[in-house]
Amino acid sequence: MAKYLKEGMSVEEVQTQDAKVRGIVEDILGRIESEGDAAIRDYSEKFDAWSPDSFRLSREQIEACYEQLDQQVIDDIRFAQEQVRNFAQIQRNSMLDVEEETLPGVVLGHKHIPMNSVGCYVPGGKYPLVASAHMSVVTAKVAGVKRVIAAAPPFNGEPSPAIVVAMDMAGADEIYCFGGVQAVGAMAIGTETIAPVDMIVGPGNAFVAEAKRQLFGRVGIDLFAGPTETLVIADDSCDGELCAADLLGQAEHGPNSPAVLLTNSEQLARDTMAEVERQLTVLPTAEIAGAAWRDYGQVIVADSYEEMVEIADQIASEHVQVMTRDPDYFLNNMSNYGALFLGQETNVSYGDKVIGTNHTLPTKKAARYTGGLWVGKFIKTCTFQRVTPEASAMVGEYCSRLCAVEGFAGHKEQADIRVRRYGKSGG
Ligand code: NAD
Repeated sequence: MAKYLKEGMSVEEVQTQDAKVRGIVEDILGRIESEGDAAIRDYSEKFDAWSPDSFRLSREQIEACYEQLDQQVIDDIRFAQEQVRNFAQIQRNSMLDVEEETLPGVVLGHKHIPMNSVGCYVPGGKYPLVASAHMSVVTAKVAGVKRVIAAAPPFNGEPSPAIVVAMDMAGADEIYCFGGVQAVGAMAIGTETIAPVDMIVGPGNAFVAEAKRQLFGRVGIDLFAGPTETLVIADDSCDGELCAADLLGQAEHGPNSPAVLLTNSEQLARDTMAEVERQLTVLPTAEIAGAAWRDYGQVIVADSYEEMVEIADQIASEHVQVMTRDPDYFLNNMSNYGALFLGQETNVSYGDKVIGTNHTLPTKKAARYTGGLWVGKFIKTCTFQRVTPEASAMVGEYCSRLCAVEGFAGHKEQADIRVRRYGKSGG
């Protein structure tokens, strides 16, 4: 039976916070719907003190952002985008169109068709999340999306040059500087100046994630990708210093970012807790990471690897860092996670920034039913069929009887007319 050495916020407290966010987002989206651009400007002023002449960046403004960056930064962005593009292309190549004869004279198939337009949200409230531009825009372009628009909030009172350059290098067709619900709402609902898109993708804070959730149906969304979560799974082959670094490295995302240690070693648990406190005294982002650890951090000591798998699957964390003697045991046995980081040599930061797997991943237990953003999320799998006259007459008989069971007279006639035309008596 697992023992909790440190527990996070209660379910009730989390639910109260979620309900508050739901109400705020509903109001903002309602006003965007009725007032369009005027509402966008109002909220941008209110939340981000940002009201430029145009929220859309001109070519000159984009070029000016390149001028502000060191060549090394541009080269590093290019390297990261190459990795994301390369892996997305490998994944795209694995998505095969099919066309097969399933019965004599019956041909069924599916075709992969990219969406026409998507809006990519790139977070930038606390940190300019440059990497999100690679994750969404590059991947959408590999999928073949024609119109990819991208938005990020201002950072320090202006568009973040690194985000804008990353969006541009990734191939964004329109770049906007606005954030939060107003950005997601503008792209999904559309305004007098912005044509709406078919799907919204990308991570964000609780407001952004909730806005996407409320807009789902009107537009597609990639997944529920809210405040970052991390789960570190470790045994006594690992040490407290590494576990603490991996917990705090993700807790620094925001004060509501859960970071959980799951281990079968009470000694490691205690070492890690002490190390977290020590590292918090030197980490420059300790204020945020410390708040997240205080309110959402957990330390769980399990009895066995089997129990660790069971608990990890219940947590269904966005990121799972595995630092045990046999990391592949968790690859082979776990079923609920956004992304796995196997072994001490890799870590979530590699995935977040540069290695090529997508960093937009499911949170709040959405990993029970979806993986992260990938090229397939931008592509519809659409079926088609063709039938010979003989096959039509044969299938039509089955269809006619099944329509009668359901009482669908019109459907039945669709089948019957074909049986009459293509069946023995009709042919
Ligand atoms: P953000 O861009 O998501 O949000 C900033 C916007 O929030 C602002 O522009 C503002 O308009 C809006 N906002 C702030 N306070 C508000 C309020 N009280 N009411 C309404 N709107 C308000 O940037 P952030 O806040 O730094 O958050 C980024 C988030 O993205 C973090 O929580 C991080 O963990 C998460 N993230 C998730 C993933 C994932 O894949 N799940 C990946 C990367 C980052």
